[in-house]
Amino acid sequence: MIISGKELSAKLKADMAAEVAAFPAKYGRVPHLAVILVGEDPGSVSYVTGKAKASAEVGIRNTTIRKPAEITEEELLGIIAELNADDEVDGILVQLPLPKHIDEDRVIAAIDRAKDVDGFHPQNVAALWQKQPCTLPCTPKGIIKLLRAAGVEIEGRNAVVVGRSNIVGLPVSKLLLDANATVTITHSRTRDLGAVTRGADILVVAIGRPKFVTADMVREGAVVIDVGVNRDPDTGRLCGDVDFAGVSERASVITPVPGGVGPMTICCLMENTIECFLRRMAH
Ligand code: NDP
Repeated sequence: MIISGKELSAKLKADMAAEVAAFPAKYGRVPHLAVILVGEDPGSVSYVTGKAKASAEVGIRNTTIRKPAEITEEELLGIIAELNADDEVDGILVQLPLPKHIDEDRVIAAIDRAKDVDGFHPQNVAALWQKQPCTLPCTPKGIIKLLRAAGVEIEGRNAVVVGRSNIVGLPVSKLLLDANATVTITHSRTRDLGAVTRGADILVVAIGRPKFVTADMVREGAVVIDVGVNRDPDTGRLCGDVDFAGVSERASVITPVPGGVGPMTICCLMENTIECFLRRMAH
């Protein structure tokens, strides 16, 4: 079974659009997401364009602020301070990565936690690990939604996560743990990775290496979630971290790239923006 993040996200976005359509009558306006893009990295430009398109579909107001790569950290912090103070901005997203001369951690920490739609603010991260209410990071949240929609049982199963980044590997591990999976986190220093991944009932791969996980690393019947977004060195086309052709023969459930985790990430960003808006309206 191939789980289509594209289909699920289309359905969830349609539901959100219906919800947002009622907001002007109720709250006087729609949610407003501000996205800051620094520089012109093609990957970042395409992600920001995708976020603007999804906002339009859902009825969320989107302001994309484009700044040259030479912007100073102080200037960027100044823009964030203005957006923090703007009562009509509900969500602030700084597209990563930032140019090397800018301290990403400092920039993320400067965003008002209540407007941190990416869930990257240190207070949101701490809240996630302490099981406190928080904005969940979009990709891990989307992965759990995909698993739930596919009817995958998580409780009591062995989940192996390949990759330990702050934006995917670590938080998805925590969400799987909270859903009562037994979680193993692996990384570039893991010895005999295949032996560990073969123990997975649920395998989540987020490493950024084209087609790295091959069929021999996957147990028959496993559920495989491929987070990777890479260029296939042979064809130049988008591909995941999982060798889809081989692994789909063994997996019971698998996500494609493109059309799997990616659309769910954007969908969860829309959901987070609505949640931030509603929390602010309640105050
Ligand atoms: P990072 O580069 O931040 O982290 C990569 C992780 O993979 C590290 O923990 C690293 O280990 C581990 N790793 C690298 N090589 C190996 C290896 N050979 N064996 C085992 N582990 C390895 O990547 P991200 O988490 O940011 O992204 C991962 C992928 O997911 C990328 O392709 C990215 O484009 C994609 N992505 C997709 C999203 C979506 O919405 N679909 C959203 C975010 C990311 P170590 O810590 O030891 O270095």
